[in-house]
Amino acid sequence: MNSPKTVKMDRPLSREIFRRATDVLVGGVNSPVRAFRAVGGEPIVVDHASGARLWDADGNEYIDYVCSWGALILGHAHPKVVQAISGQARRGTSYGMPTELEVELATRIRAALPSCEKVRFVSSGTEATMSAVRLARAATGRDLLIKFDGCYHGHSDSFLSEAGSGLATLGIAACPGVPQALAALTLNTPYNDAAAVEKLFDQNRDKIAAVIVEPVAANMGVVPPAEGFLQSLRDLATRHGALLIFDEVITGFRVCYGGAQTLSGVTPDLTTLGKIIGGGLPVAAYGGRRDLMERVSPLGPVYQAGTLSGNPLAMSAGIASLELLAAPGFYESIDARAKRLGDGIAAALRETGAAATAARAGSLLTLFFSPERVTDYAGAKKCDTKRFAAFFRAMLDRGIFLAPSQFEALFVSAAHSDADIDRTIAACRESLAVAAG
Ligand code: PMP
Repeated sequence: MNSPKTVKMDRPLSREIFRRATDVLVGGVNSPVRAFRAVGGEPIVVDHASGARLWDADGNEYIDYVCSWGALILGHAHPKVVQAISGQARRGTSYGMPTELEVELATRIRAALPSCEKVRFVSSGTEATMSAVRLARAATGRDLLIKFDGCYHGHSDSFLSEAGSGLATLGIAACPGVPQALAALTLNTPYNDAAAVEKLFDQNRDKIAAVIVEPVAANMGVVPPAEGFLQSLRDLATRHGALLIFDEVITGFRVCYGGAQTLSGVTPDLTTLGKIIGGGLPVAAYGGRRDLMERVSPLGPVYQAGTLSGNPLAMSAGIASLELLAAPGFYESIDARAKRLGDGIAAALRETGAAATAARAGSLLTLFFSPERVTDYAGAKKCDTKRFAAFFRAMLDRGIFLAPSQFEALFVSAAHSDADIDRTIAACRESLAVAAG
């Protein structure tokens, strides 16, 4: 294993593969943040992964805190998940017809999140949020949508203004190609500011279909909801006849088994899920109140469909994952590991005097290169992204793979050991010094 002191790993094979990638793939990648544009240098090209470890094409080893952007809460290639996928693969990879597997995964989801009285599986978080908003518009007969600056809900047209994740990373405030008429239906407002939401409702009486929110924001870096914020959204939506949509694509089965809605005690009308429910395969879902969900086709006229929806390989991976996550003490253990990391980073910040703050919600963490606590997108945007980039590169050279952007979370998995965490903290202390220089 590379020691944390390793500096400047050589990656000639990765470089050669990436050179070919840039010839045939847009920017050499299939999702923008992977291109390392915000941190400089060339991306690592992954060869294989296991547990908390990734190996690049050159055989360099990394402790992985991206974990497929949060999907892999059990770490890479968990034996039970691999067994479920390979067992199913022998029975067929896709049927395009109902299976018992779909019933089983949906039943587990409903047991965990009782607000999801009925569920519809799709293949990506983008599809889930897009479909939930379509349903909200149909159910209310209204067009406007309230969304929070710095929240990311996938790449469908209605969500691309002042969005987090890759749009924050690349500085794209509004995406070309989105019709102005459609963009005008999305009202952006600061996270954690319920008074601003109230004002929007007052200014647009009987016009707002839904408020969509990440109940713990994780796409501008980790920004937990202020005390009472989610309840205020619930109250405002109810008072004004709008629906509340919790986008739990990251937080579902992450902040606790029942997601942020269970943790906060605030019940949304509709929920979107993704990432963890597919155990690393492409699955997402939307669900909610029975009367709302029964408007979706074939029961109602709100059309939504998918060739690979409910894919049996993905259902099998999801069921195997949820079974493991339901074990007593799972979340206490992973949160304790993440707390060890958060506390270690905070201590390193104190020792080095770095102008940065660590934010944590369960097993989600961000090290913001800002001296002030970040509570919204305006605060996140004040971060010193150059310093983050230097820190990121120093960590990578020490065998620690973080998300290559200031505006993302770091995901701790059940596969990260205390030794991994301690090694990460040691690398962090050194990398903060490098970034300061
Ligand atoms: N919602 C949230 C909260 C997300 O974090 C993401 C992706 N990171 C999405 C929606 C979109 O999911 P996908 O990338 O699967 O389309």
